[in-house]
Amino acid sequence: MDRPKKLVVIGNGMAGAKVVQEILSRDRERFQVVMFGAEPYGNYDRTLLSDVLTGAKDAKGIFLNSLDWYRDHNITLHAGVTATAIDRDNKVVSGSGGVEESYDTLIIATGSRPFVPPMDGAEKTGVFVFRTLDDCQAIEAYARGCRRAAVIGGGLLGLEAARGLLSFGLQVTVIEMMPWLMTQQLDTEGGALLRETMEQMGVQVLLEKTTTRVLGAERITGLTFQDGTALDTDMVVVSCGIRPNAELAGESGLPVNRGILVNDRMQTSDPDIYAVGECAQHRGKLYGLVAPLYDQARVAAEHLTGSSSNGGYQGSKPVSKLKVMGVQLVSIGDTIPTDPQDEVVSYIEPSRGVYKKMVIRNNQLVGTILLGETDTAGVLTQMFLLGAELPERRADLLFGTSTGAPILSVFDLPDHAQICHCHGVSKGQIKEAIEFGKCRSVSQVGVHTRAGTSCGGCKKLIEQLLEVYAGEVAEDPAEHWYVPSLPMTKPELVAAIKAKELKSVSAVFRELNGGQEEPGHKTALASLLKTIWDGEYEDERDARFINDRVHANIQKDGTFSVVPRIDGGVTSPAQLRRIADVAEKYKVAAVKLTGGQRIALAGARKEQLPDIWKDLGMPSGHAYAKAVRSCKTCVGSDFCRFGLGDSITLGIKIEQRFKGIETPHKMKLAASGCPRNCAEATVKDLGVVAIEGGWQVYVGGGAGIRVRAADLLCTVTTHEEVLKYMGRFIQYYREHGKYLERAYGLVERIGIERLRELLVKDVEGIGARLDAEIERAVEAYKDPWTEADEPVHPAQFSEPVRLEVNNGD
Ligand SMILES: Cc1cc2nc3c(=O)[nH]c(=O)nc-3n(C[C@H](O)[C@H](O)[C@H](O)COP(=O)(O)OP(=O)(O)OC[C@H]3O[C@@H](n4cnc5c(N)ncnc54)[C@H](O)[C@@H]3O)c2cc1C
Ligand code: SF4
Repeated sequence: MDRPKKLVVIGNGMAGAKVVQEILSRDRERFQVVMFGAEPYGNYDRTLLSDVLTGAKDAKGIFLNSLDWYRDHNITLHAGVTATAIDRDNKVVSGSGGVEESYDTLIIATGSRPFVPPMDGAEKTGVFVFRTLDDCQAIEAYARGCRRAAVIGGGLLGLEAARGLLSFGLQVTVIEMMPWLMTQQLDTEGGALLRETMEQMGVQVLLEKTTTRVLGAERITGLTFQDGTALDTDMVVVSCGIRPNAELAGESGLPVNRGILVNDRMQTSDPDIYAVGECAQHRGKLYGLVAPLYDQARVAAEHLTGSSSNGGYQGSKPVSKLKVMGVQLVSIGDTIPTDPQDEVVSYIEPSRGVYKKMVIRNNQLVGTILLGETDTAGVLTQMFLLGAELPERRADLLFGTSTGAPILSVFDLPDHAQICHCHGVSKGQIKEAIEFGKCRSVSQVGVHTRAGTSCGGCKKLIEQLLEVYAGEVAEDPAEHWYVPSLPMTKPELVAAIKAKELKSVSAVFRELNGGQEEPGHKTALASLLKTIWDGEYEDERDARFINDRVHANIQKDGTFSVVPRIDGGVTSPAQLRRIADVAEKYKVAAVKLTGGQRIALAGARKEQLPDIWKDLGMPSGHAYAKAVRSCKTCVGSDFCRFGLGDSITLGIKIEQRFKGIETPHKMKLAASGCPRNCAEATVKDLGVVAIEGGWQVYVGGGAGIRVRAADLLCTVTTHEEVLKYMGRFIQYYREHGKYLERAYGLVERIGIERLRELLVKDVEGIGARLDAEIERAVEAYKDPWTEADEPVHPAQFSEPVRLEVNNGD
């Protein structure tokens, strides 16, 4: 047998790793693979760095290939080694630290680096770029000591960086040279509306400003602009575009223009050397998005393994999506008409921040903007990519058809049409998963191909493909699983966790999922484990959202609101004095009475939280938690002339007993002293109303996104009975509620009659066990604000964002 040829890849980023994966999926034996990666990690999804910066994702959760993956596939990875020279005559690549590797075939995938425009003082401490995990970590660490931050560059990445900085509680200013934001993707109207949206989020936007100088001795203290104005700032992130890393190729004698020149097979002028990704220039164009570089990686792999089935790489059309939390924005193609014959269809609704626009040429879509509402983005993307003929009623493309009928038939799409842009999955791959992989549901297709597993925008198209090629969309068994990575319903999972005594999220993954961790499912599992084990649950920092890690509610500007517990809404002058003193001492932004009859101190910085709790000397009100919150009360029979029951005493008893108990979603409670119901108990998750001679216990009310009148669970005579049936309901909800399902969801799913049978009539004999379980939870309760004295982690209140990277292992 022939010795496998040696393939060396320079660059272990998104394109480099993808091309290797594509090659291995076609022919595992053909090459002995060696990779150089300047970053000391496995391969991660760079597009998710913005989520890491905002704290929405943990750094560990963005790795696509851990170091184990390289070992398992016999790939030699020189992680942390920069390739410094290519000797094309002897076919050898040299790297830092004296590493040398000969090659038969070489792929250059060195990506780009951020461009820092000329300005005095750019080398000062406090000036950052935003490209790598290390950049992310450095920004976070520095932001800790800052109050103000600036971002130079109002493009896609600049805005994502600004949102990240906002989550550290900084005052953030975006500085843009052009007259509107995201000039590459938006027109003036879209840019103006986006500016308003960003400003509403708390980001200041300065337009038409060219930065000339970074002020300060060693550390940055401000910026000056060409128009003579200045801005004070403690740090700056420069996001002014990228430049391809093409020097290494150029120095080896390969033709380079802005990027490394390649043909339609992604081959340079040297037939043994290929280039893919942002460093490659194809037909005069450079690409800075993932979908094109995945196409390039596939084409290079096809050519290298001799499996080429089409005419090579033909170029890509740009589809961009802004990933700023709270802003929906998709921009496709040319959004400004260039031909006098171009047809422009637009719709603007400034009060909701909605702007939609299509540029149509020869009845084909050449560009579109969807801002504020992006429901039809999937269909428009396909129409644009395929150059499809558009329907006569243009409005259907922006708002959907009035009958709900699909605008686009997936059957007519060619096999190479990309359905999932996040993971570069084509219609042909999904068809294969349906026809040969026997996938019958959207989630099965996701497991096979990864399609639909990120932003989810393509799920409707996957459903249509299932209908066409399988004749059915099977009910997804995963719908009933507690989390998609563990194929078990909640009761099955609870039984397995109890049987194996698994007390931490990592133990669950280790014992029930072969050690494979799914970061997106950790929070739901942490909630379940806390429910099962209460005080014995082993808290792992990365398994909780920021609110649960610091026991306060993060606000839109990145500060926190502190809400102490005021049982039953009954306070005292001494408590009010303490709250007022704390509000003054910490100069909180607002003192607000809440709907749950408590007092919120808004605008506290994270590092202030432990001192505020200590000064208050009051327990946590759990206003941030998926847990039992407060019990609102009316004045009841003690004070009200209509009062039939002592709602204050009962409300305090209810709150003191069930406070802070972990539940699948938040639980709001109330107690009213008569059917006039001043505490609105019948629109609470759990409520009680006094009637002549007793109390009615209500379950499953809501007055939020959904308004729902609660159902009557039972009528009882004593406070003790109220506590007993409330406790049974809470425990049943803890055991059977899906994660993030409000109590009314459970009531509707199980049915109130069945709940009465189970919880009141006790037809299945589970009452005593539920009573014992809730008693255990009550006894295990510990005020989380005691962590002011005993933090669970040394940096619990000091680190702005949680970034723990361990080389992707
Ligand atoms: C914060 C952020 C958000 C983004 N969001 C999106 C998005 O939402 N959608 C989208 O489509 N795109 C997005 N992008 C762009 C996308 O991430 C890039 O297009 C993609 O990562 C480019 O892949 P690449 O492999 O060409 O370069 P990279 O991923 O940068 O990989 C190149 C690798 O090569 C290494 N390298 C360079 N020179 C050498 C050398 N001499 N020796 C060894 N190693 C070397 C580099 O260290 C790097 O690890 C985003 C980018 C950033 C930074
Ligand atoms: S609910 Fe009845 S008892 Fe309570 S305050 Fe209103 S009227 Fe009075």
